Amino acid sequence: MAEADTGTAGKKEIPILPFLRLGEKAGDAAYLFGSKCTSCGATYLGSRMACSKCCSTDPMEDIRLSDHGELHVFSIVHQSAPGIPTPYVAAIVDLPEGVSVRCNIEGVEPDPKNLKFGMPVEMYTEKVHTDSDGNDIIAFKFRPVNGK
Ligand SMILES: [Zn+2]
Repeated sequence: MAEADTGTAGKKEIPILPFLRLGEKAGDAAYLFGSKCTSCGATYLGSRMACSKCCSTDPMEDIRLSDHGELHVFSIVHQSAPGIPTPYVAAIVDLPEGVSVRCNIEGVEPDPKNLKFGMPVEMYTEKVHTDSDGNDIIAFKFRPVNGK
């Protein structure tokens, strides 16, 4: 057997989407990363080969996106795929870097009276699944900022 020994218990945390980065070590905050065009400054969620604003194909700068944003739009979903509990809040959150991210809003009853366009929200991560190797699958969600 030539399996690499990672030094940990063999169990890993795996981000559910490629633009979610988990901390290098325990206690480090997870964050969403984006790309910034070095020619025109346009920003994108995740990595990009080219800028759709100025067509530059120069390598983009990796940026760490803010974990706070504003609720741009939301929809309360009452019917979903089997196994997905409803209702839940599907939303688009605007981040200060000029990037929009699709996500779910947790931490509030899924009722329109609890949600306002432009309300401040913050990102957090949560284990949502365990894969067949016992690894934790980590997803990101947003929730209203306390007290707002
Ligand atoms: Zn550009």
